[in-house]
Amino acid sequence: MHEGSIAESIVDILKETKKSNNLSKITKVTLKIGIMSGVMVDALLFALDALREEEAIIKNTEFEIIESNVKAYCILCNKNFEFQKNEEIVLLCDECNMPLEIKEGKEMEIIDIEGE
Ligand SMILES: [Zn+2]
Repeated sequence: MHEGSIAESIVDILKETKKSNNLSKITKVTLKIGIMSGVMVDALLFALDALREEEAIIKNTEFEIIESNVKAYCILCNKNFEFQKNEEIVLLCDECNMPLEIKEGKEMEIIDIEGE
């Protein structure tokens, strides 16, 4: 994935939020990133850090990243599966071998923005 451009879109969203909420600065941003989103957390934090120089809005912003597990579901067996990071993700039902439906784990979203 292109963490550099993701970092830039995050900054754009923060600028909008700052403007529409009349904030003077953004203190903390919480991001939720699914372990199957394809986003490398370290690379994203690095890209955000690199932007601090040119983007005053995130100069002192703290970024917290919550990695969400993969949650999947078998429609046939009505069974839920959960996979953690560093675990082998097999998206097939262990009872009927049907491909699982992914419910969570591919998202990348901003869940909280704090400012003052
Ligand atoms: Zn099944």
